[in-house]
Parts: sequence; C-alpha cells; structure tokens
Amino acid sequence: MKRPKRLPKELKVGGLTYKVKLGHIKSSLKGGVVMGQCDSCARELRIDKKRCNKEEINFVLFHELAHAAMDAATHDEVHNDDTFLHPFTRFFWDVLVSQGLIDPRTFA
Ligand SMILES: [Zn+2]
Repeated sequence: MKRPKRLPKELKVGGLTYKVKLGHIKSSLKGGVVMGQCDSCARELRIDKKRCNKEEINFVLFHELAHAAMDAATHDEVHNDDTFLHPFTRFFWDVLVSQGLIDPRTFA
C-alpha cells in the first residue's frame, strides 16, 4: 500500500497562492461543527485535524479548494455558499473516488 503524502504547504488556485494549515479551527458563530475553512483574505485553507479523520482531511481540502476556486473565479454568489458547495463537492468527490480517479487517502 502506498504511503500517504504529506499535505502540501501551499496550493495555487487560479493564480492565487493559499497556505494549507492543519490545526484547530474555532467554531463558527453559527455554531456548526467546522472541519475546514477557506479564508480568502488571509489566503489560507484550514483543516481541523481533531475533527477530521484521515479520509476526511482529503475531502475537506478538496472542498476548501472549491471555495478558493470560486473566489479566484470571482463567483462571489457561491464562493461562501455551502448549501451549493457542499453537495457539489461531495457528489463530485464521490464520483472521482468511485472511479479510482482520486485516492481518498492521498494526504494524511
Ligand atoms: Zn464549505
């Protein structure tokens, strides 16, 4: 079995460089459980390492990348809209994983 790669320290999304941070994220004001966060102002993709198991880390990075991509594409109407982005990224992710196009344990 292939050994998982380490998370990249930075990723470029549409010409914008985001730092990738694995740590603890304070819960949002809405009170929901926050597993990841895309901070477009700070250019950071944050993943909560205590709330995510090894496979979730990969999906959460993919999901936060979608936020960053919508920001880079200046789709302000959806860039912070999880009612759109969550199912979009989940369904897209499930297809990629089920077809072996992406390894859900790439990063751990
Ligand atoms: Zn989101």
